[in-house]
Amino acid sequence: MDIESVKCECCGLKEDCTQDYISDVKANFEGKWLCGLCAEAVRDEVSKGGKKKNYGVEEALKAHMSFCRKFKSNPAVRVSDGMKQMLRRRSGDSSSSKKQV
Ligand SMILES: [Zn+2]
Repeated sequence: MDIESVKCECCGLKEDCTQDYISDVKANFEGKWLCGLCAEAVRDEVSKGGKKKNYGVEEALKAHMSFCRKFKSNPAVRVSDGMKQMLRRRSGDSSSSKKQV
């Protein structure tokens, strides 16, 4: 199997993955490769925004990428820690789902 080095489009994490896996992830995320953590965050974002019209992977990707950038510009906070916090906060906090219509 061919192993390739890919870089996460969000947080910049590099991973060695099989080409099958890489194209699989890219197919799911608008041609972008995301690391496991970012992929999970984007999927979470999509499921939370799923009730809104026109909210798909593309919007979730954009939201997550700006989230990652914010953390990257602040070296005191590790992106992975911030994301874990975000996921934890979101799954436990029902008041954040006010946007439901
Ligand atoms: Zn990432």
